[in-house]
Amino acid sequence: MKSFDCKMCGSCCEGKGGIVLGPRDLARLATHLRLSQTEVIDKFGQSSGTKIRLKNGDDGFCIFFAKEKGCAVHTAKPDICAAWPFFKGNLVDKESLHMAKTFCPGINPDISHEDFVEEGMAYLKANHLLADDSTREANALIL
Ligand code: SF4
Ligand code: SF4
Repeated sequence: MKSFDCKMCGSCCEGKGGIVLGPRDLARLATHLRLSQTEVIDKFGQSSGTKIRLKNGDDGFCIFFAKEKGCAVHTAKPDICAAWPFFKGNLVDKESLHMAKTFCPGINPDISHEDFVEEGMAYLKANHLLADDSTREANALIL
């Protein structure tokens, strides 16, 4: 991609409460981990209003993140993780993209907002990452 090339720094896997597990994520993780969806929620999730979010480890990182190894569920990671940096905020707001560039070294600092939006929308659609259920899915995927 012109606009994004992940540098695997792990910064986006740190911090509390951001990773929403929507219905598709739960089904995918359950298959990947060979657990029931209820077991996935019990072991790795926590309720947050009407949504389920991933727990954090004691180190402040996502429960699936390990330093040196990265994401333990990479091939089955939640849609919100697969969608970064093409979140609604960065797609609708130039300033938000500017701030994201300072946080994430994977975003091409020279990419224009217009090119970022064009490439991001194509990526989200091609990978079926857009969502529409604000009660259970991540708001950042609802455009
Ligand atoms: S902050 Fe950006 S470069 Fe670092 S792991 Fe996350 S997506 Fe990749
Ligand atoms: S599921 Fe994987 S990619 Fe997503 S925050 Fe956790 S460790 Fe990072």
